[in-house]
Amino acid sequence: MSILDKDPASAPEKERAAAVLARTPTGLLINGQWQKSSDGSTFKVENPATGEILTTVASATAADASAAMDAAAHAQESWARTPTRVRAEILRRAFDLVHERSEDLALLMTLEMGKPLAQAHGEVVYGGEFLRWFSEEAVRDYGRYAPVPEGNLRMVVTHKPVGPCLLITPWNFPLAMATRKVAPAIAAGCTMILKPAALTPLTANYFAQIMIDAGLPAGVLNVIPTDSAATVSEPIMSDPRLRKISFTGSTAVGKHLMKVAAENVLRTSMELGGNGPLLVFEDADLDKAVAGAMAAKMRNMGEACTAANRLLVHESIAEEFVARLAQQMSALTLGSGTDDRVDVGPLIDAKARDSVEQLVSDAVARGAEVVVGGRRGDGPGYFYEPTLLRNVPAEARVIGEEIFGPVAPVLTFSDEDEAVALANSTEYGLASYVFTEDFSRGLRIGDRIEFGLVGVNVGVISNAAAPFGGVKQSGLGREGGAEGIAEYTTTQYLGIEDPWRAA
Ligand code: NAD
Repeated sequence: MSILDKDPASAPEKERAAAVLARTPTGLLINGQWQKSSDGSTFKVENPATGEILTTVASATAADASAAMDAAAHAQESWARTPTRVRAEILRRAFDLVHERSEDLALLMTLEMGKPLAQAHGEVVYGGEFLRWFSEEAVRDYGRYAPVPEGNLRMVVTHKPVGPCLLITPWNFPLAMATRKVAPAIAAGCTMILKPAALTPLTANYFAQIMIDAGLPAGVLNVIPTDSAATVSEPIMSDPRLRKISFTGSTAVGKHLMKVAAENVLRTSMELGGNGPLLVFEDADLDKAVAGAMAAKMRNMGEACTAANRLLVHESIAEEFVARLAQQMSALTLGSGTDDRVDVGPLIDAKARDSVEQLVSDAVARGAEVVVGGRRGDGPGYFYEPTLLRNVPAEARVIGEEIFGPVAPVLTFSDEDEAVALANSTEYGLASYVFTEDFSRGLRIGDRIEFGLVGVNVGVISNAAAPFGGVKQSGLGREGGAEGIAEYTTTQYLGIEDPWRAA
């Protein structure tokens, strides 16, 4: 496996990176103004491919969090009254601007998060689609009017914006995780405070400037990067004017925030961790299955909540499947995502790289065999080789825990019941994948598997038009689709004296 020079950027590429960073706001966005933090504090943003500091960003304090809450609360009433067509057109202009500025957005994501540029461009397309989809959904949120069965009342049922929201996003998809929350909140008429991950605040800030340029009024979207998440989330979540929290991140932090949210009975949407199975049956088309496994495992260096964590393969085809997957995994090139020859970038930080290394060591100590990879990169940057493991015992940590790295453990099964039992033997329930040429079996697995998302003969299924979300400890609620806007509305029933009674 080749590991390219960690910093192969040519002088013009370095200049381009410097120019994008110079165009990216590094402050807090509160009430339409970019500003410093109240105590002047900042934190550093690092390039995980090189360990270099890209820039510093203002670090919001509790006072800044309260100011953002004031701005969101103040803007709420007029924003809720703003016609849906106006809200829709702002989203549509933002969609166009995301595409006009796609080179900047993609490069920023590669610089601060590490994903290869081609995948960063893919995220611009995916993330942008939430702006277009919810611009279309904004004007289609219907209510109903009907007589009650007793005939004494008419009911008018309407959907109202839930109110000011706190949106907390992770670092692994810095644009899409923000647009997937911001776009439906705008469409529904909510104001919001976005707290991006400290590892990747630049993409969120750049996107917020796009929203301003698209015409979003001051106070509707406030952005408060910080390196001390609880310092800002606590005052906001205890403020009685907040109505909802939408969180994407780890299950541990999600559980904590659910407890805090209970105090004020906040609406919650939780997009949490995953431990996705990828099932390959004996009747599968192996070309499709290997391509699907590569996409579901290796995209984003495996740092995806939808990643295939466990490859479950029928024992009769396991040898051939492993041989073909090994051949494709060893052909991958590891290096800085700014180099267009690179397929696999660095992991987000040293902690993430060390955690992947420990999972592999644990599996090997328990008897797993390393077919491909199995080593960290040397030198600067947080690289770990694409790694294929077989003969992995079910009790290995790599089977039970979310890997969040380019490591693919293979287990075998002998029949459908065993495959389903293995797939469901996790507290998570986000993404799953099944490969079979038997259509009935594909549908049957859909019935039997406890996951919110099921890919049949495909390794990537996320789409702005489809409801995304998990069951069990992978979360509550759905993002995208028609369901996505409902997370940001509340239902009101007006009971009106029946007009025939009044006559
Ligand atoms: P994380 O839980 O550490 O952090 C997520 C966000 O929460 C960050 O913005 C962080 O600053 C913030 N945060 C952390 N502690 C907090 C606190 N006490 N109060 C308020 N905010 C706090 O997760 P991560 O490492 O950034 O992301 C990786 C995790 O996200 C993985 O588990 C992955 O599966 C999950 N994820 C889920 C989805 C999904 O849609 N289900 C999508 C992407 C990532």
